[in-house]
Amino acid sequence: MECIFCRIIAGEIPADVIFQDKDCIVIRDIHPQAPIHVLIIPRTHIRSVEEAEEKDQTLLGHLILVAKKVATKEGVSNKGYRLTINCGSDGGQIVPHLHIHLLGGRRLDDIMG
Ligand code: AMP
Ligand code: ZN
Repeated sequence: MECIFCRIIAGEIPADVIFQDKDCIVIRDIHPQAPIHVLIIPRTHIRSVEEAEEKDQTLLGHLILVAKKVATKEGVSNKGYRLTINCGSDGGQIVPHLHIHLLGGRRLDDIMG
C-alpha cells in the first residue's frame, strides 16, 4: 500500500487520531500551520475532489459535519476556523488521498491570497 493516509487508516503508521467513525478518521497534522490543524480523512481512498463521484456525495457532506464536531471539541467553534481542500498540484495537494484541513486557533488572513 503506497498511500500514507491509507497506511495510517490501516494502523501501519502511527498518527495522533482525535476522532474516528466508520467513514473517516481525524488526525493532527504533522506540520501544523496553526495552533489547531487537523485533517479529516475518509477511510475510502478517493484521490482528490477531481476523482470524487456522485456516489461520494453523502460521504463528502459527512466529512464537513465531522469537521464541525471536531472544531467544537478543539475549542475553536466560537472564534472560527477554516476548512480547506487542496486539489491537484496547483492546488497544493501533496497527499493524493482526499482530505479536509481544519485550521484554527489564530487569525488566518495570511494563508490564502
Ligand atoms: P495537502 O497538501 O492538502 O495534500 O496536505 C497534506 C498534509 O498532510 C500536510 O499538511 C502534511 O503536513 C500532512 N501530513 C503528511 N504526512 C502526515 C502524517 N504522517 N501524519 C500527519 N499529517 C501528515
Ligand atoms: Zn489512500
